[in-house]
This record gives sequence, structure tokens and C-alpha cells, in this order.
Amino acid sequence: MTAEPLALYVHWPFCVSKCPYCDFNSHVRDSIDQHEWREALLTDLAHEARLLPGRRLTSIFFGGGTPSLMDPATVEAVIEAASAHWLPADDLEITLEANPNSVEAARFADLAAAGVNRVSLGLQSFDDRSLAFLGRAHSAREGFAALETAQKHFRRVSVDLIYALPDDTEDRWSAMLGQALSLGTRHLSLYQLTIEPGTRFASMVAKREFEPLGADAAAALYELTEEMTSAAGLPPYEISNYARRGQESRHNLTYWRYGDYAGVGPGAHGRRLGMRTVRHKKPENFLSAITRNCHGIAEEAPLSATEAADESLVMGLRLSEGIDADAIASRFGFAPIDWARVDRLVGSGHLTRNGARIALTATGRLLLDAILGEIVAAGELIPLAVAG
Ligand code: SF4
Repeated sequence: MTAEPLALYVHWPFCVSKCPYCDFNSHVRDSIDQHEWREALLTDLAHEARLLPGRRLTSIFFGGGTPSLMDPATVEAVIEAASAHWLPADDLEITLEANPNSVEAARFADLAAAGVNRVSLGLQSFDDRSLAFLGRAHSAREGFAALETAQKHFRRVSVDLIYALPDDTEDRWSAMLGQALSLGTRHLSLYQLTIEPGTRFASMVAKREFEPLGADAAAALYELTEEMTSAAGLPPYEISNYARRGQESRHNLTYWRYGDYAGVGPGAHGRRLGMRTVRHKKPENFLSAITRNCHGIAEEAPLSATEAADESLVMGLRLSEGIDADAIASRFGFAPIDWARVDRLVGSGHLTRNGARIALTATGRLLLDAILGEIVAAGELIPLAVAG
């Protein structure tokens, strides 16, 4: 019998500065004790490994924060420990999120030697004005140079871009996306700028220092994105992710297909054997918990069948492949779907249905949240936090 698959998420919570749109668990500190953090992450990892014995490790994802600021020796130590705790798959995918400034790009060779085989590069824009608006610590030129270095060292490179900025137009975005598609990467993560509560952008918008792009204009850019990426052979496989066939992020597919994943490091979420786990967010609290308990868990609770079925539906509908309601029902005992509403949304062109499999159409993808509210059987939808 093949061992059950498992993904591992490792959160590095530090950044050189805080971007004004960012609501991730990222912190700026004057100094970081790399040795202390290496030991803490290894201790946290060992805790998950004890509770998840004998699993086949299919992916490791170093997210943040800015994990390209990790000491490559720490990255290597985590990869080695994870490979010793579990049974690494032959094609183990090891991704690290990187910022494209020259200091970090200089570490790419060491990170590749440490075992990283996929990099997700946060270029965000090719325009210096937009990068300044986004508070990014790199220029467009540095971004291109970092991409070239990344492509030299890693087999798989994904590029992140942020669009639908306040002054974005179809011409501007199609020029930038066209350029991105010509760079030779086989995976793109393309996020629309959203104003998250508690961020600097949220207070700037409240003070009317700028106005976000309107919903109709943003929708037009989203449609344009789907057209251009599909024409270039990188169709969407998730709401914001585009790839050539076979180049999808295996790690993120585990989340969306509702597989188990261990989440270690500050603020990391995990899903382990029907339990949801959440680590302490603040780095100092995380370290204290490690000292006290030999793990960084702040909360751990069983997921009820209802919660799990809801979550798998909500996550699965993000994917172009959609969900199989029969598979959800056989896994959790029921599928919380209002079929009359599904059929209505099929009629209006927002969903496709093939037996028990339902998926969003391109028009439906623009209205994901509203559609979920419609089709999840009344009273079943439970808000959830997404890992990573
Ligand atoms: S680099 Fe990434 S994680 Fe860090 S503050 Fe900026 S957006 Fe947030």
C-alpha cells in the first residue's frame, strides 16, 4: 500500500520592510538569530512528524514573510529533517518564495544547493512607479536580473505580479502581462490588488489618499488575463494561478484538493488527520511556545464533518477542475450543496455541471464568493482561514 501523501508548509515571518498592502504574518526586526530560528523550526517540525508517522512527503513550501532571507543552511536543515521524518517522493517539489533584490538573488545558488527546486519570485510589477506605490524594495531592473539568476539555478520558476492598481488600464496591463508571458516561465501567480483591513493601504483609502480601481474595470482586467494566459498556453488552473499543463504548484494543489498538510513556523496553519492547527503568529510568542512545549501550536481543534465538507467545497471551487460532490460526500458523509441553485447558475453561465462534478466558468470565477454563498446549502458555510 502506498503511504498517504503529505505536504509541508514552513513559515519564515521576517521581511526587510512591511509592504503597505500586506496582511500576511510578516514582521520587521533589527536582528534575527538564525541559529535560534533553525532550532525552533526543527523542533516544531519534529512535533508534527511524531503525529504524522509514515507519510509520503510530496512537497515542501517555504513561505513568508521573506524566506529568501533565511540562512540557506536553515533551509537545508529543514529539508533534510523533513526527508528523514517522512518518505520523500521521488519528485519532491520544494518551493521557496523569494524577493527579487540583488542581496537575495545572490543566495539563489546556495538555496538551490540546499535542495530548493522551485522558486516563486515576487516581481509584482515591471514598472518602477508601480513598485514604488506598492512599497517594494526592488526596482524593475533588479527584478529582471533576479529572474535571470533564478532561471539559471532553479528548474521551475514562477513569477508573481499584482495588477488592478488604481491607475491600471487594459493597455497597460496587457503590455505588462505580454512581457511576463515572454519571459519563459511556466507558472504565473497574478493577483488583483485588494485592500485588506488593517493595512497601510486601508488607512490611505479611508483618508481618500487614493481610490482603488473600480469593480468593473478590475473584472475587465481579470477577463483579459484569462484570455491572454490561455492563448499563451498557461490557462488558469486556480482563480489567480496560471500554468502550463504539469507545471501547477503541487503544494498549493494539496490545499485546494483538501489534502493533509503540516504547517510549521509562526502563524502557519495546518490540517492534520481531521484537526486544524494554528501556530502562534508573533515570532517572540512562537519562540516562547517552542521553549515551553516543544511546538509552536496556539490552537488545535478537530474539524467537524460539516466544517471539513464546507472547506473542501470552498477550496475546490477555486480550481478550474472544480469539485466532485460524490467524492466529498463519500469522504465526509454528505456534500453541503444546494443542487437547485447549482442548476440555476449553470443556466446563467456561471457554473458547469457534469453529473456530480461542478466547476466555475470564467464568468463565475469573477463572482466566487457570491456563488459560494448561493450554492453551499443554507446555514452550512463556515468562514475559514487559508494557510500560507
Ligand atoms: S515582502 Fe511579502 S510578506 Fe513581506 S511585507 Fe511585502 S508582501 Fe508582505
